[in-house]
Amino acid sequence: MSAVLKATGLVKSFGAFTAVNDVSFTVNDGEALAIIGPNGAGKSTLFDLLTGRKTPDRGEVQLFGESVGHLKPWKRVKRGLGRSFQVSSVFPTFTAEENVQIGLMLASGRTWNAFARATETQKDEAAALLAKVGLADKKDVAASDLSHGDQRTLELAVALSTRPKLLLLDEPTAGMGREESRECLTLIRNIAASESMPIVFVEHDMNVVFSFATRVMVLVAGQVLIDGEPEVVRKDQRVKEAYFGEDI
Ligand code: ADP
Ligand code: MG
Repeated sequence: MSAVLKATGLVKSFGAFTAVNDVSFTVNDGEALAIIGPNGAGKSTLFDLLTGRKTPDRGEVQLFGESVGHLKPWKRVKRGLGRSFQVSSVFPTFTAEENVQIGLMLASGRTWNAFARATETQKDEAAALLAKVGLADKKDVAASDLSHGDQRTLELAVALSTRPKLLLLDEPTAGMGREESRECLTLIRNIAASESMPIVFVEHDMNVVFSFATRVMVLVAGQVLIDGEPEVVRKDQRVKEAYFGEDI
């Protein structure tokens, strides 16, 4: 079985500071990999290296067995890499439906502008995607007028609009309460399962992590401390220490 995503020896420094320091890992079919670690551990930087938003100083990223290190973010999206970011990236003045339509148009190689609107098929697809994430009744609401949780959910719909084969989610539940986080992850997990799509996600709430991940990788100071079965990671003394005695 070839890996869906394979990172080998990734390194990224900012000046003298090395944010990602020789990180290697693999994502296989059917996995829900949680990447956890203290603030500043390098999780978002690692995601940026995977998605192509940042270029590694060293190392390689393979998607479905092919090296994508030279590819711009958008080309990686075309190869099946769906993503959403820690910082919200929806277009605030556009409606929920328009945001998804823009994603669909980009996925089909067209750029949204005032003269090139979505096709009827794309409008139907956008409506179906909004229904899938539970935002059908808010399709005409401007993204900026949606609640924080709904904005994050809209981002998920936009990420899905590119028809990903693998989903990378950097803190998809950032800023949500515990119950809302749980609902959002349940939604993500159900969608991932129904589309047989592996996911890689960063999440702070350890209860959420350990109830959703099939594998957990702990990043500390830019390095992989441990990568394995959730139960093994949870019991690891070094992980407990990395969290300064926090109860995980
Ligand atoms: P995490 O997502 O795990 O909280 P980040 O990847 O955002 O961590 O950051 C890792 C470290 O790299 C932090 O110390 C952060 O300050 C630093 N860092 C991130 N981006 C930059 C940048 N563009 N320039 C300088 N330092 C950065
Ligand atoms: Mg981060």
